[in-house]
Amino acid sequence: MIENNAKRINPRRAYEIMENGVKRIVLGATSDFIAHEAALQHGTSKPLRTPKQAKTRILVVAHSDRGTLDDHAKQCLAAAAILADANTAVVALVLGELHEDLTNTGADEVLVIAELDYVAFQPESELFCVKAVVETLQPSHIFMPDNLIGDGDLGRRLIASQPEKLAATHVIELNLGHIANYQLGGTVLALTNLPFIVLLAPETADTNLPFAASALKLDQALAHPVKDKVAIANYTSLGIQTIAAAKIALEEADFIVSAGNGVNNVQTFQTLATALDATIGASRVAVDDGKFARDKQIGATGKTVSSSTYFAIGISGAVQHLQGIKDCRHVIAINRDHSAAIVKRANLSLIGDAEEIMQALITAIAEAKLATQEAA
Ligand SMILES: Cc1cc2nc3c(=O)[nH]c(=O)nc-3n(C[C@H](O)[C@H](O)[C@H](O)COP(=O)(O)OP(=O)(O)OC[C@H]3O[C@@H](n4cnc5c(N)ncnc54)[C@H](O)[C@@H]3O)c2cc1C
Repeated sequence: MIENNAKRINPRRAYEIMENGVKRIVLGATSDFIAHEAALQHGTSKPLRTPKQAKTRILVVAHSDRGTLDDHAKQCLAAAAILADANTAVVALVLGELHEDLTNTGADEVLVIAELDYVAFQPESELFCVKAVVETLQPSHIFMPDNLIGDGDLGRRLIASQPEKLAATHVIELNLGHIANYQLGGTVLALTNLPFIVLLAPETADTNLPFAASALKLDQALAHPVKDKVAIANYTSLGIQTIAAAKIALEEADFIVSAGNGVNNVQTFQTLATALDATIGASRVAVDDGKFARDKQIGATGKTVSSSTYFAIGISGAVQHLQGIKDCRHVIAINRDHSAAIVKRANLSLIGDAEEIMQALITAIAEAKLATQEAA
């Protein structure tokens, strides 16, 4: 046997990204060391990307939802962070309150304008304010999620307000050289140079970045224009109207409670759903059993849902079912089998009998509601 003494290069050796964008190997330091340093500073185990002296900025504008950014907004931040070179900072302009840390999203700087919550319809104020921030920061590009919760609308207003600037909507692919979107009813894939304003379709970028960012809070004075009086058009904002959870389509529901084969008493389940004010879903087995209508089925051959909370009761978590809940933010499971696949997917699991736990929850909710009424 021939002995091979060639030294092997560690493909994961420690490096820093310098201002000119070049990766510099840190001799003597291990990835663990750098990760540890970063972790100490920013509570993350990834190397930091944030440029020390940014010369340009990419601005990412998105509304928050109850203090957090959704996946679509984070994909825009990730896309900006991936495209940003060592002299470019990614600025997150968050409209609405922000209660989460954006370190792992790629945001080097963060500006929050809490007053511009999407719950209030105030497009002129939003446009006025975003334009003022753009004026101050002079970004090279603006990225926004092309969605229906306000960002898509605001993005189009921004585009219309600056006809001299290039823009693109429904962008499904981008790099520094080009963007792509479908035209002519989805029959043609059109390519053009990266424009000033980019409204990104969902799933355009992977949010699992190999680096972290500083997410430094920018001087709040930058957001001052929102406090100025803005000319309002002749409409009245009625705010968001609440409707009974049962009337909400599963695809639009924010809180779903779903029954599987482990739910034997449908009456208890429905009482719990009403007490929680949640929309009802079901697994295929529960539907095949005739316990629920076919339009309640969630999964590969049913509906795909994206609720903030998905409460799975007596559901095993078969791949076909998990496929339908892949976009749900928080999953809670009740199952008597702690090794069930749904328990692995869940953020919180209650191991035990579904009927017993549902009854206990119904009682606890009733007591909590009574206590709230008495306190009021
Ligand atoms: C082509 C194809 C497409 C499919 N499409 C879908 C789809 O769209 N949606 C879908 O859901 N499935 C779909 N399936 C079916 C899927 O593979 C599973 O069979 C189904 O999801 C299982 O439903 P379940 O978890 O409710 O039932 P089960 O697999 O029977 O699991 C019941 C779960 O409840 C627990 N349990 C039982 N009794 C209790 C109790 N008393 N208290 C607490 N927990 C209890 C058990 O531990 C178990 O984990 C599809 C299958 C195929 C082949």
